[in-house]
Amino acid sequence: GGLPRFANDPMVDFTRPDHRAAFPAALAQVRANAGKTYPLFIGGQEVTTADLIPTVNPAKPSEVLGQICQAGIPEVTRAIAAAKAVFPAWRDTPPRERAQYLLKAAEIARRRAFELSAWQVLEIGKQWDQAYADVGEAIDFLEYYAREMIRLGTPQRVGNAPGELNHYFYEPKGLAAVIAPWNFPLAISMGMASAAIVTGNPVIYKPSNITGIIGHHLMEIFKEAGLPAGVFNYVPGRGSVMGDFLVDHPDISLIAFTGSMEVGLRIVERAAKVYPGQPNVKKIISEMGGKNAIIIDDDADLDEAVPHVLYSAFAFQGQKCSACSRVIVLDAVYDRFTERLVKAAQAYRIGPSEDPANTMGAVADAAAQKSILEYAALGKQEGKLLYESPIPQGEGYWVPLTIVGGITPQHRLAQEEVFGPVLAVMRAKDFDQAVEWANSTRFALTGGIFSRSPEHLAQARRDFRVGNLYINRNNTGAQVERQPFGGARMSGVGTKSGGPDYLLHFMDPRVVTENT
Ligand code: GLU
Repeated sequence: GGLPRFANDPMVDFTRPDHRAAFPAALAQVRANAGKTYPLFIGGQEVTTADLIPTVNPAKPSEVLGQICQAGIPEVTRAIAAAKAVFPAWRDTPPRERAQYLLKAAEIARRRAFELSAWQVLEIGKQWDQAYADVGEAIDFLEYYAREMIRLGTPQRVGNAPGELNHYFYEPKGLAAVIAPWNFPLAISMGMASAAIVTGNPVIYKPSNITGIIGHHLMEIFKEAGLPAGVFNYVPGRGSVMGDFLVDHPDISLIAFTGSMEVGLRIVERAAKVYPGQPNVKKIISEMGGKNAIIIDDDADLDEAVPHVLYSAFAFQGQKCSACSRVIVLDAVYDRFTERLVKAAQAYRIGPSEDPANTMGAVADAAAQKSILEYAALGKQEGKLLYESPIPQGEGYWVPLTIVGGITPQHRLAQEEVFGPVLAVMRAKDFDQAVEWANSTRFALTGGIFSRSPEHLAQARRDFRVGNLYINRNNTGAQVERQPFGGARMSGVGTKSGGPDYLLHFMDPRVVTENT
């Protein structure tokens, strides 16, 4: 009791002069703080290492924002020991008390919202609104999971047999490894970490090195919130050095991962092996890729469909596992739709995201750039290039906004996740074929449909088998509580972040029966 009902954090409002002015100010503040070295944080203590990785502005890689200390095996071992030492006390801290730390963290993140957004603009190339939305989502996870834990933390009476009292309740699993991606550097990290923490599982957090500074800010937020030492350990490191060691470690009971299908499946496989002394069968929460489609029906409102498809495919350079990477267009409207799509895409301006006049920024790093350019070239071979935008000259991880037509399900461009601004356009002969094609990948994350036909919408609800289906709107930007997010098949293990059963994956249920 006492807590107001959960509500999503309000979006940034650029019609407000104070919000408009806040971004340039925050960007200047961030730049003034560039160049620091970021230590690990283990058992409540800063730990520096000699192995450093620079984190840079992808629009200008010569601009080094900071140096991230890298954990090796000794540091991971130390973090696991710190988490293990605090586990019994944290497990036995009342759920309501654990929830208070999340509420406090939400307050701190809210106070720092523009600064945390500005770091994202510079460290990963998010547009202003995209960056702020990520911070808002992080706040939402904290507020939502705090309330969820209070709800689930009360033992429930079950059954009604006379002479018997049954209580059903939950306890944490143990030590949690949280392995996070760079694309929602605060929100997804915060979501996985806060879920683990509030349910009573101490965390060993491995952020992506590409967004190591934002990962460090996350740690600072929990530190300021007063979390006991060892409950949250910030342990960035090279996947090749410490990834398998962390996953394989017998003291880890829970792994929360978001990232590529390849890494996710590797974790699932490795975590299946039980080592001597291991207390638990490891639980895996793995959110992986997508090859998400939007269907354009022959009666779709194209004034709506065109901007929503572009936003879904190209906001934040298409680097969302939810992004639209296939648009499946009914034959009757194919020419009209693609012509308008390309015209509207020509209005996109590619350039540094710190300038709000640019609608698309640089991609994450050199490896992402190379892979995306290879897919764009493949698309031109497999299909027909409909549009390729100009890109800025000079340094920066630039790739063109690319739209390729004439793609059919057997093409690699219809099957493989690109994770960048490459959109495949597919011409379907009728609605049944459109739905069949929409389902014809191994992924099942998001999907969309623009249609005015009640029968087609009903068919899509039933047969378009994705975790998150969006009707007559964009298919990204799931909101905590309103669109619990996650997929099945090779997109994930069927968990829904920001939803009513997410925390259950982090706990084991117990029952105590008393003969009365
Ligand atoms: N939750 C995000 C969205 O709905 C996508 C998360 C991801 O890319 O991993 O757009």
